[in-house]
Amino acid sequence: GPYTEVVDPEVQAALDGELDRQRMNVELIASENFASPAVLAAQGSVLTNKYAEGYPGRRYYGGCEWVDRVERLAIDRAKELFGAEHVNVQPHSGSQANEGAYATLLDPGDRVLSMDLAHGGHLTHGMKINFSGRTYEFSHYGVGSDGFIDYDQVRKIALRERPKMILAGASAYPRVLHFDLFREIADSVGAYLLVDMAHISGLVAGGVHPSPVPYAEMVTTTTHKTLRGPRGGMVLCREEFAKKLNSRIFPGLQGGPLMHAIAGKAVALGEALRPEFRDYAHRIVANARAMAEKLLEEGLDLVSGGTDNHMMLVDLRGTGVTGKELEERLDSIGVTCNKNMVPGDPAPPTVTSGVRLGTPAMTTRGMGEEEMREIADIIARAVRGELKGLRDRVLALTEAFPLYA
Ligand code: PLP
Repeated sequence: GPYTEVVDPEVQAALDGELDRQRMNVELIASENFASPAVLAAQGSVLTNKYAEGYPGRRYYGGCEWVDRVERLAIDRAKELFGAEHVNVQPHSGSQANEGAYATLLDPGDRVLSMDLAHGGHLTHGMKINFSGRTYEFSHYGVGSDGFIDYDQVRKIALRERPKMILAGASAYPRVLHFDLFREIADSVGAYLLVDMAHISGLVAGGVHPSPVPYAEMVTTTTHKTLRGPRGGMVLCREEFAKKLNSRIFPGLQGGPLMHAIAGKAVALGEALRPEFRDYAHRIVANARAMAEKLLEEGLDLVSGGTDNHMMLVDLRGTGVTGKELEERLDSIGVTCNKNMVPGDPAPPTVTSGVRLGTPAMTTRGMGEEEMREIADIIARAVRGELKGLRDRVLALTEAFPLYA
C-alpha cells in the first residue's frame, strides 16, 4: 500500500478496507482528491511528534530548526504559487482558516455579506449554529433563476446592509466567480473583500480560474481539494494584515501547529508549482465539461446549465428520484458522490433534490473525457433505475486506472 504497515490489526483492517474502497470506486465528491504518495509520507512522518508554537525563528519550544525549515518552505512556495504577499500555513482546516481571517478583519457583531448556504455557500459562511453565525451578523446573496450569482442582487444587499466584509466563495457553485465585480461592490460600500477559494484553489494555481489574490484583502483555502494536498487550511493576505493574522491564528485560536500536515502542504505546493500541475488543472475542467455535456444529452438538468470549473450540480426535480435516493443508488454500484441542495430546493437538506459531482479525483487517476462520458452514462442509467451491469462497468474503469499502484 501507499503507507507503512500499521501494527494495530483492527486499525490496519479499516485502513486496508478504505484503500480498497478508494481503489474500486469512482470518486466524484467534488471536495475530495487523492494526495500523492509523497504527501502521504510527509503526513505520516516524525514531524507529528514536534511542538512548535509560534512561527519560524520565533518559537516557544526548542529543537525547532528542522520544522522551521519545513514551514518556511511551505510559506515560500504558497507565496510563489499564488503571488501572495503573506501566507499563514498553520490553520488546521478550512474552517479555522476562515475563523482566523474573520477575526483579523472583523469584531464580534460586525456585519458580513456572504453566499447563502442553500445556494452553495459553506457552513462557515454564516450558518446559524456555526461559530460564524453565532459571532457575526450575516446577510446572504444567492443565485438567480438561471443558477448564476446575481451581482445586481449582491450590490443591492450590500447597499442596504452596509457590511464590513463581503465574502466570495462557495462549496457548490459550478461557475466562474467574478472577483473584479465583488471588489467593485465591496469598494462601493467601503467593505473588505474576503475570498474563500477552498474549492477552486487548485484551479487558480493551475491558471484555469481567475485568481482572487489581486482583488481581495485576504484569501482563505483548504489544501486538500483541487490543490491535492493534505487535509488543512491556509490564509493568504496583504502585508498590512500579516502580523494581526498571525496572532489571530496563534495564539488566537490554535496552539501547536500540525507540523506533519505543514510538511504535507509544502510537498503539495511544490507539486503544484510544476508544469504538470497546470496540465492537471486544465484536464479537471475539460473533464467536467465532458461529463456535463453527456449528462445534458441524457436529458438530465444541471444548475446553470453546465459548468466552468471542476463541479456540477444535477437538478433531479422531475426525475422522480431524490438526491438521497440517487446517492444511495450510486453507492450500491461503486460511484461515490453527495446529495446536495439545489437553489430553491423544496426538499429538506437530509433528502435534497440534487447531487454534486466533481472531477478532481478521477482526473488524478488519469481518466479523460471518454471516461467522463462513460461515467455520465452510468449515472443517467442509475437515475432511470437501470442498474444491471453498472457495477461491472465501474470496476472496468477503476481497474484501467489504478490508484497507488
Ligand atoms: N470553505 C469552503 C468553501 C469549503 O467548501 C470548505 C469545505 O468543505 C471549507 C471552507 C471548510 O474546510 P474544512 O472542512 O477543512 O473545515
